[in-house]
Amino acid sequence: GYVERYEPGGVIADCLPLVQHLLNKSEIEVRQTRSETRLVLMNRTELQQVLVNLIVNAIHAMPDGGTLTLVSMDAAGPGESPGVRIEVADTGTGMAPDVVAKIFDPFFTTKRREGTGLGLSISRTLIDRQGGRISVESEPGKGTRFTIWLPEAD
Ligand code: ADP
Ligand code: MG
Repeated sequence: GYVERYEPGGVIADCLPLVQHLLNKSEIEVRQTRSETRLVLMNRTELQQVLVNLIVNAIHAMPDGGTLTLVSMDAAGPGESPGVRIEVADTGTGMAPDVVAKIFDPFFTTKRREGTGLGLSISRTLIDRQGGRISVESEPGKGTRFTIWLPEAD
């Protein structure tokens, strides 16, 4: 799709109204910290799709409430290239290592109803296509943090 240059923090903010009803239902507090000065190059709707999926996954992981932390900052990537890091972190269920190992596989889901298991697989494809990276750290009972890095736009 059409690719443009922008600060990703604005796209993070654009996601929140879309998930507001889910945040209210589970009493989730949102903290957004935004400090990036660099621009990234990616189709805006595709980045929004990636972030909404990460945020909805985070909300599903916090059925009894918690904190959703959204961060965007200037950060170096592979080979010290300049770029922007985006973090989506929750204080939810977390995942065991054997689950973490499969979450980017197409159709892998642990959800009985709403899950297609395609969200993270598609997200990785979209981020890779822009020369970016997506990774995860998770601890059972503590929570999960997804990290996206995108190269700075020329
Ligand atoms: P879906 O949401 O349709 O299940 P995804 O590709 O978005 O598919 O996610 C795959 C699986 O990864 C989920 O079913 C869940 O088991 C796990 N997962 C993803 N994000 C989180 C998270 N924030 N906390 C706990 N588990 C997660
Ligand atoms: Mg999902």
